[in-house]
Amino acid sequence: MTLSPGATVGILGGGQLGRMLATAAAELGLAVHIFSPEADPPAADVARSTTIAPYEDAAALAAFAAAVDVVTYEFENVPVSAVRPLGDKVRPGPRALEVAQDRLTEKAFLAECGLPVAPHRAVDSAADVAAAMADFGGNGILKTRRLGYDGKGQVRLAPGADPAAAFAAIGEVPAIVEALVPFTAETSTVLARGLDGSVAAYAAPANVHSEGILRRSTVPGPLSADLEATAARHTAAVAEALGYVGVVAIEWFVTDDPERPLIANEMAPRVHNTGHWTQDAAVASQFENHIRAISGWPLGSTARTADAAMINLIGHDADDWAAHLDNRLAKLHLYGKKDTRPGRKMGHVNVLSRGVDFSRAD
Ligand code: AMP
Repeated sequence: MTLSPGATVGILGGGQLGRMLATAAAELGLAVHIFSPEADPPAADVARSTTIAPYEDAAALAAFAAAVDVVTYEFENVPVSAVRPLGDKVRPGPRALEVAQDRLTEKAFLAECGLPVAPHRAVDSAADVAAAMADFGGNGILKTRRLGYDGKGQVRLAPGADPAAAFAAIGEVPAIVEALVPFTAETSTVLARGLDGSVAAYAAPANVHSEGILRRSTVPGPLSADLEATAARHTAAVAEALGYVGVVAIEWFVTDDPERPLIANEMAPRVHNTGHWTQDAAVASQFENHIRAISGWPLGSTARTADAAMINLIGHDADDWAAHLDNRLAKLHLYGKKDTRPGRKMGHVNVLSRGVDFSRAD
């Protein structure tokens, strides 16, 4: 099914990603209907209609699905049970959600697709955590299998750490222990796949996290052209295996091990924070390409048009929003969130450099 201008895109989730997808859809002449379990979601400000209901409300979901021409999601923890009944109307399909919602399933799937992943163990008890720590020389990261994001549901393990205390800290839920990857940099591939199977990847930025939260993504990033192409090929293989339609991201650790220079950390079945620079420094942004893909339209060029640094405005960082307006090469994006809380993503700023590089243009 291919949409025409005037059609309505339904988006499950009403956060900043939904807001930026809705803006991109509006620019292409499409209307947007947001489905959000939370009242007053950031995306509702820029959408034609909004339904506020829990994902478990089957009647509300059915009415939403009947009112739109295609459904997509901006949040990977939408229950698969809510998405499955929507059938072919959902792009990307529920399999991508299913894989991304469980770190153990995700790692197995990425490995099946040929991507190198960090050594890891499934753990269901403190004794399992102790055994995994022993396997990995005492170091590792304990991560819940489900519902972790922005560093939540994670505990760093070091020699001497108490496995029972660590398991208690994540709520004694099914988890994995991952070996600590001695990375030299972090990067990501944000890739769009169209309904016709065509793919286009963006430049892979250098990503800097602190306390598990992305702070900054800069392009050009840390990879050689060859490695960047390898990362894109791996991501395309994942998208292909899922029959994926839309934008998908893989986060990578970059190492100085020539045998394993790239280790896949995780997959996001949606537009991604490390792709926000594309709004101001790529021909077609990740948001535009996601909307084009789910509409059955050809993808826009992912070519980079400038060097850029995307800086997240987290918590009270956003109080200084006005300072960015004085920088003539800065583009400010605020999400319209009413409450400022520590660790909450309130906006971002894309700072462009004067260098314009079309050398990698497709
Ligand atoms: P995640 O929620 O899995 O994306 O992890 C958030 C951040 O924690 C990553 O971007 C890394 O900076 C760090 N991290 C996660 N897993 C590992 C690992 N196995 N080795 C080293 N650092 C990690």
